[in-house]
Amino acid sequence: MTAVVPMPVYLDNAATTPVDPDVAAAMAECLTTEGVFGNPASRSHLYGWDAEERVEQARVEVAELLNCDPRELVWTSGATESDNLAIKGVLLGPRARGRHLITSRIEHKAVIDSCRWLEKQGFEVTWLTPEANGAVTAAAVAEALRPDTALVSLMAVNNELGVFNDIEAITAVTRAAGIPLHVDAAQALAKVAIDLAAVPVELMSFSGHKIYGPKGIGVLYVRRDAGLALEPQMHGGGHERGLRSGTLATHQIVGMGRACAVAGAVLDAEISRLRDLRGRFLAGLSALDDVHLNGDAERGVPGIVNLAFGGVDGEALILALSADVACSTASACTSATIEPSHVLRGIGLTDELAHASIRFSLGRFTTAEEVDFAAGRVVETVTRLRASFAGRPRRGAL
Ligand SMILES: *Cc1c(COP(=O)(O)O)cnc(C)c1O
Repeated sequence: MTAVVPMPVYLDNAATTPVDPDVAAAMAECLTTEGVFGNPASRSHLYGWDAEERVEQARVEVAELLNCDPRELVWTSGATESDNLAIKGVLLGPRARGRHLITSRIEHKAVIDSCRWLEKQGFEVTWLTPEANGAVTAAAVAEALRPDTALVSLMAVNNELGVFNDIEAITAVTRAAGIPLHVDAAQALAKVAIDLAAVPVELMSFSGHKIYGPKGIGVLYVRRDAGLALEPQMHGGGHERGLRSGTLATHQIVGMGRACAVAGAVLDAEISRLRDLRGRFLAGLSALDDVHLNGDAERGVPGIVNLAFGGVDGEALILALSADVACSTASACTSATIEPSHVLRGIGLTDELAHASIRFSLGRFTTAEEVDFAAGRVVETVTRLRASFAGRPRRGAL
């Protein structure tokens, strides 16, 4: 070991990211007596007007990154809420064309469990199986469409694999059929360019804490000319044009706006920097044999690297690494269970390979030094575990 690190190297940026210092500073301006603490819905005084101005400025910052109209954005508490509002909002809404929806087996739990809940209410769900690389094809969507399909919901970038769907091709299919498309883009925002004028999806979900903004803030994009009538999931004061009641969290919203502004400024540079870091990390692992890349080397965001280490139990590896490297087996949302990830199963991995898999996710604050250190620790640890009994996969664990 050469480097001395007080905390493990953080390679779990797909689970959450630290808040950018610029973002934190902008948020801090909206909390205390001296700051913009007013209720943005207060119409009778300067405190309220100032807060409203900050909120609307943030909406413009998000809209600029997405190339959409600010009026198409609804503030939520995160991508989980955005997914719930989009999916239940359309299916339970007055203009739903039917009671059928289409999604995939490897969506985020916020989408899967919203669809499952609807299934329990008597709606019908088609669960598409992705290709082995993790992408859902436009042809698979076309085949699953029915006259009573009310919504298609597919993610832009998978949070475990980093693989992206061809949303442009899928949009062409859904548009031709006149069926709204919802895209969970929590892992795509600030990682790939999103242009909602060029790729006209109807609904898109975003989260603040995946893009160096705060936790507890998200956005749902709702295309204005799509004629959607979402059933609100939160009832109250009628904020956000009735779609999402609740006092707007000025500091969170300002944080989301600033995070988008920063992301837009550094996007291209970050994509190539992360691509280099990814290459460096994989090169650092080249001393190991029997390493399998889950997903698709050619088709993914550079920040996510999902690897199966043959003959090694992923949980045991993560534990053995935990003093030096912070990473995860799957999404943070499912890492409380020992079941292999539904995503890895969904792309057809054997339970054994799924149990041997780990996700490393690099981010804006990851350095070359950290990547080298982490790769070295992984090589050492995998080699040691392979030589011992403890690291063997749990055969028959299911
Ligand atoms: C993190 C994430 C979510 C959930 O976002 P929250 O803001 O934490 O609710 C949803 N979908 C995907 C793809 C994610 O990565």
